[in-house]
Formats: sequence, C-alpha cells, structure tokens
Amino acid sequence: MADAVSPNLADIHEAAERLRAGRVVAFPTETVYGLGADALNEGAVARVFALKGRPSTNPLIVHVSGPEMARRVTAEWPEWAERLARWFWPGPLTLILPKAACVPSIVTGGGGTVAVRCPDHPVALALLFHYQRPLVGPSANKSGGISPTTAEHVRSAFAGEDVMVLEGGACRTGIESTVVDVSGADPAVLRPGAVGATEIAAVLRRPVRIDEGTHTGVGPSVSPGRMARHYAPRTPARMFGAEEWPGVLPRDGSAVVITHEERRADPPHRVIRLSSEAAGYAAGLYAALHEADALGATVVLIERPPAGDGIWSAVLDRLTRATTEED
Ligand code: AMP
Ligand code: MG
Repeated sequence: MADAVSPNLADIHEAAERLRAGRVVAFPTETVYGLGADALNEGAVARVFALKGRPSTNPLIVHVSGPEMARRVTAEWPEWAERLARWFWPGPLTLILPKAACVPSIVTGGGGTVAVRCPDHPVALALLFHYQRPLVGPSANKSGGISPTTAEHVRSAFAGEDVMVLEGGACRTGIESTVVDVSGADPAVLRPGAVGATEIAAVLRRPVRIDEGTHTGVGPSVSPGRMARHYAPRTPARMFGAEEWPGVLPRDGSAVVITHEERRADPPHRVIRLSSEAAGYAAGLYAALHEADALGATVVLIERPPAGDGIWSAVLDRLTRATTEED
C-alpha cells in the first residue's frame, strides 16, 4: 500500500525515551494523527491538554496494544467489550468502560469511565508494543481545529513546541473513531465513525442506541467532548445543497468549494473535488479543509454529502460541527 509507512526502529526508541520522560510524541493512526503521552503519567497528560488548549472536561482516548492492555486500564472487561475488540481491533472503534484506579482522573475528565481503542497503524502499534504502556492520543491539533491526517499538518500546528512527530503517511480512514459506550446495560454510539451502529449491533446481537446528544458546554453530558462547533477551518464555512448551486457562490470575495460532485467555478473561486464514495471522501476530507484554509478564500462552501448510514453519517456529523458558528 502506498501510504503504509513501516516503523523506523530508531525513531520508535527515541519516542519511547521521550514518553518515559513525560514528553509528548505525535503518532499516526488509521483515523487521524494523535498527540501521544503516557496515559498513566498525570503530568504528561496535563501537557497534552495544555498543548491542545483542550477543556479539562473533555476526556481523552487511551490507546492500547490490544485487549490485554485494555484490561489494565479498565475496571471491568465485559463479554461485550471482548466481542467488539475481537471483531474490530485493531481498528476505528473506541469502547467506553469503567476505569481502573491506575488511570489518572485528568484522562477521563474527572469521570468514572475510560475510553479505550487499539489503533490499526503499524507505527502506532510498534510504539505501543515497544513502550508497553497505554498512551493518550487526542487528535494532534489545537482544540476545535481541523484534525491532522498527515505528519505535516501536525508539524505546522505545533511548530516550535516540544512535540516529536512520528511519520506515518496519510491516514487511511481520515475521520475519528466511532465511540461506543458499553459501560452500562444499554450500549450506545456516542460519536459516529467508520464503524457503523448496524455493524456493532450485529456483533453484539442486540440493538444499539445512537446518542446524537451535543454538549453545549452547560450541564452534564454522557459524552463530554461533543461540542457543537468542532473540526472547523479558520475560514468561515457553510454547507449547501445541490439545489443552491451555483447561486451559493459569493459575488464579492472568493470561495473554496468542497464537493463530491462534478462542479466548475470560475476564478477566483476554487473547487476541491472529493470522492463520491464514502470511504474515499472521509479519507480526503480533513486534508481538503486544511487546503481550503491555506488558500486564503473568504468562505469555504461544502456540498452536503449524500444521505446514508455508516461513514456518510459520520462525515455529515463532522461537517455539521465544522460549519456551526461560534456562539
Ligand atoms: P478525540 O480524542 O479528540 O478524538 O475525542 C475523544 C472523544 O471521545 C470525545 O468525543 C470524548 O467526549 C469521547 N470520550 C472520551 N472518553 C470518554 C468517556 N469516558 N465517556 C464518554 N465519551 C468519552
Ligand atoms: Mg479532536
């Protein structure tokens, strides 16, 4: 595969040294690049929150090498978790479970549950197997911004800061993992991703609730990180429907149009064409948003993606948050 970068052992050793010293190492996963630190080292995790400017109430995902390491950070490992891990790991599915006492509460935003996932990327797995300890790995961008899908995105977000970046090519999946809460009696998808609720329900052999709840920043929330505005470019962005084309193009200023359709727009407007197939679209989306920001247009216009479940619904979720205005 063109982008499957194999791990460089010297880099993995250096990364592990840094992690042991409580420093931060960004690593590639199949979803997006993560900002890694030792999940059991409170000071190291605090550095990740500070680097991202992430609210302390937004818990982090703990990355593990597999079910065995997952058991070390969870207080319970029910049959459901075992089944989902066997089926989907390594892969883009995060499980919410009661946390073990060894996990500092800064990781979980003060809550009693922890999010765990085993990433499907040779570099991430090499790091986890070598380091032998769980790593937090929120997306390696400043809080609220566009997630990074290349090492270059990470380097430009943290230029001049003490962050080692492991190279791993372009992320294959391109959007964040599906988050499923299996800590209670009623499994629920808290964040859509590449793994669909139907697939999860099929593996669990029971219905799975989809919790669309968005956290407004006020009051308790089952998934504290679900901010209404997220994944957003710096340039004002809005979504449009096919029926609005081409009237949606501004008379003054320039637009970058991101679309899965064949669309033409005269300069100064630009068109970034993404795949019309869900997996390809998701893989290219964040790079397109980064590129749109770099082009310095006055507005980013994103064509509403086709309705669908699975990856298309995860894409729509990200686009809705990316185009939500700040309060
Ligand atoms: P990110 O690390 O940016 O991909 O975001 C992690 C996502 O997982 C956020 O949406 C969090 O709210 C969610 N998450 C992490 N830990 C928990 C938890 N214990 N309970 C519910 N959601 C969680
Ligand atoms: Mg993020």
